[in-house]
Amino acid sequence: MSTSTGLTALKRRMKGFLCRHEALILTYHSILPAGTALFPIAHHLDGALFEGQMRYLAEEGFNCVSLEQLARYIADKRIPPRTVVLTFDDGFYNNYSVAFPILQRYNIPATIFLATGFIGGSKLAWPERVALLLMLNRRPTLTVNGAVFNVQSQDDRMAAYTAIGRHFGTIGPDEIETVLADLLQQAGLTLDELYASELYQALRFMDWSQVAELARSGLINFGSHTVNHRRLIYLSPEDAQREIETSRQMIREQVGECTLFAYPHGRRDKDFNESHASMARQAGYQVILTADNGSVNRDADAGDLPRVSILQGCDVDQFEYLLLGGAVFNQPVPAANKLRGVLTGTVS
Ligand SMILES: [Zn+2]
Repeated sequence: MSTSTGLTALKRRMKGFLCRHEALILTYHSILPAGTALFPIAHHLDGALFEGQMRYLAEEGFNCVSLEQLARYIADKRIPPRTVVLTFDDGFYNNYSVAFPILQRYNIPATIFLATGFIGGSKLAWPERVALLLMLNRRPTLTVNGAVFNVQSQDDRMAAYTAIGRHFGTIGPDEIETVLADLLQQAGLTLDELYASELYQALRFMDWSQVAELARSGLINFGSHTVNHRRLIYLSPEDAQREIETSRQMIREQVGECTLFAYPHGRRDKDFNESHASMARQAGYQVILTADNGSVNRDADAGDLPRVSILQGCDVDQFEYLLLGGAVFNQPVPAANKLRGVLTGTVS
């Protein structure tokens, strides 16, 4: 969008969005300690950026509520304006060490969806294993699937990370493990070295005592994100069911009730399908979240709710634009030099 006519139309749409009583469920993953030495990865947000977003929500008087409260709003067919729900996927330790103190400061509730097989263990999910390996690697190049990657600069490492991620999107979990073991050897590293690094601390998962501590705070509750975070669509029905049900049992044993579920990866018909949706409902989940993009209105089905992903680089202007409706307009975010004008109404 480049013309001022277009920007004026956009402003009108934003006003329209705010008049409708719709909620936004935001998706976060990892909130890194400020200054962490990692190349930019979309689902790892900088802690300072996250703090700015939370300050904005608090100062602008958004109605930040828990996912259960949103479910009650939907049941009552009444959603107050400017309602926002925060969710975190996977269960990163930095949700406890970095995000939680910020959420406490602004008294903003959140739900964390745990991939329970990783909680309390030392293993990382593959995106973080690739990232850590690229950062600690001792060799000038690495070869994956016949392609040779230069990995000496941050830009090189970022490019290699993206290409490897794309390749991993096309192969099964066992093959991913084989490639990762090979990469570790190529990099001249051992698993012990990876786990002893400072960066590992920023990328690892929580343990159950941290989960329990967050639950006791009353500000954070927990949902299931399966056990092993695999794309359900690649699994046999029996394995998919086990993933959906076992994670719920584990969370119930540790922190009590668990009625919230978010699909791993979460894209409809790419990562899950209708059969997984009915498995999740039958397992007892009452609120089920996808990675579909959208807002939640009073006619929404709590068993099939869309979200809005907040990614690295989302500054306060972009965040404001997303919250005022931009997240669901399905068009590019205005350029940075136009964005303030759109937000303050000075565009004519
Ligand atoms: Zn996830």
